[in-house]
Amino acid sequence: MTLEQIIEANVNDVRARIRRAAEKGGRSADDILLVAVTKTVPVSAIELAIQKKVNQFGENRVQELIEKYDILKERCNWHFIGRLQTNKVKYIVDKVSMVHSVDRLNLAQEIQKRAEAVGRVMDILVQVNISGEDSKAGISPGELVPFLKRIADFPNLKVKGLMTIAPFAEDPEDIRWVFRGLKNISIDIGRENIDNIDMHYLSMGMSNDFEVAIEEGSNIVRIGSSIFGERHYPKG
Ligand SMILES: *Cc1c(COP(=O)(O)O)cnc(C)c1O
Repeated sequence: MTLEQIIEANVNDVRARIRRAAEKGGRSADDILLVAVTKTVPVSAIELAIQKKVNQFGENRVQELIEKYDILKERCNWHFIGRLQTNKVKYIVDKVSMVHSVDRLNLAQEIQKRAEAVGRVMDILVQVNISGEDSKAGISPGELVPFLKRIADFPNLKVKGLMTIAPFAEDPEDIRWVFRGLKNISIDIGRENIDNIDMHYLSMGMSNDFEVAIEEGSNIVRIGSSIFGERHYPKG
């Protein structure tokens, strides 16, 4: 098979699995955003996915995002999904439609400042560390409400929901509780009715676990290897 055929088959397969998982959870696949994760993936392969009508892409490295953006420009939307250093916000603020990984006040402040400078409002998700693993980024659930209240009145930030990364598990059933946990937190926060804080999106689920995540309420899945194939170095 050519790379084009492989990507086409993978995209079709992922879309079918998204649809089945959505139906199982009583929802429509139209409500679930597929973000294709392109770390280590060359532009030529991204272009093949664009041909298959994938138009949302995710990067977790600033340098790679800039390089790909410079070639693809407005042909697709970019999501920043990885750890973000404050001194790099300025490079992506005019390029991405959403930052999924806001996990601390100084990062929120820097995005506010840079978004204001370019005259836009940045959609953000707050990353939550549900599993409690030290290696995972994200705000602990207990700190979330104070954090949201603190950033709620930043005029150039719009909180649109929450994101989490589950621990790796051979059997995704073992991490269902993580997705359910994030969903429950988003419901609790929705009830607090904090001004300017919207809990529309739950960004959760990757190649290994997206069906379980969708069953638990995810509406943004971030999928890399199931579309583009295995990466040849460790998952970042
Ligand atoms: C790499 C990555 C993904 C996609 O991982 P796959 O297992 O390849 O689907 C999703 N989210 C984040 C934050 C990532 O870094």
